[in-house]
Amino acid sequence: MKLDRIDFFDIRQPDRLAKAIHTQMGDLVLPVPVEDIATALDISEVRTGSFDGFEGMLLTDQARSIGAILANTRGGFRRARFTIAHELGHFLLEHHVLSSEAGFRCRAQDLKETREGRRHQKQETQANQFAIGLLAPVKALDEMLSSEPDLQDAVRLCVAFDISVEACVRRMIERRPEPLAAVWSKDGQVRYWDKNNGFPFVQLRKGDRLPQTTQAFRVHASSKSGFTDFSESPPMAWTSRDDIEIFEQTRRSPSGHAVTLLWADTPGPDDLDEEPDPYHRELGEPGFR
Ligand SMILES: [Zn+2]
Repeated sequence: MKLDRIDFFDIRQPDRLAKAIHTQMGDLVLPVPVEDIATALDISEVRTGSFDGFEGMLLTDQARSIGAILANTRGGFRRARFTIAHELGHFLLEHHVLSSEAGFRCRAQDLKETREGRRHQKQETQANQFAIGLLAPVKALDEMLSSEPDLQDAVRLCVAFDISVEACVRRMIERRPEPLAAVWSKDGQVRYWDKNNGFPFVQLRKGDRLPQTTQAFRVHASSKSGFTDFSESPPMAWTSRDDIEIFEQTRRSPSGHAVTLLWADTPGPDDLDEEPDPYHRELGEPGFR
């Protein structure tokens, strides 16, 4: 594979960068050959193995004159592929400031970072956005999604893109127009959650027990593996809102790990009981703020 890094020097937006690489590559090959791409973009070595204390490492300098990637395989090879893409993101996004003396050292929590906060978080978020954009390009992904949200899509995507189900669920939530959230749990205890813009804040924290009124709780209690259908769920079990409807679907694996997809039906403008007062504006009254 032949790629030229010079086209990417000025791109600071992670999704644009991933797209530019795909444009230069031409025809889309799935799963995306991330190691070949890294090597073609001046990474001298990609080494995978079982390491302690970090998920991924990029050995480099601020000028990016050298680059070598280490990726931990303890979480499986699919996660390692994401890690390689994440480290390649730090390498190509040259405004990223080194996080250790010898380059970037990224922990498991960094590879889940989705907040745009302090510089470190922001850099990790951007490396993750680049990684998912490179491994699961939107054009291919959107064509594979069903007409309605379904966790089974995530499993099909993870085979096609060769990335973890977890990464696929997050990508699916991000891409779909419906208000969606996902809650990851183990043996009935919340690990973490993710949501898109349309879904209200989820009132659960790491370590909380799943509410007993939910289907997700019953799935853990029964120790059944596989997918459930969507069923209606009490909205207050997940959020502080009682004016919405929530539907939940869970996939549990035999290891006790589960992910629950939440789909909210929030009242739209058509559902409001009162017509907006057409005279508000003319009377100079303040509108809705
Ligand atoms: Zn990182």
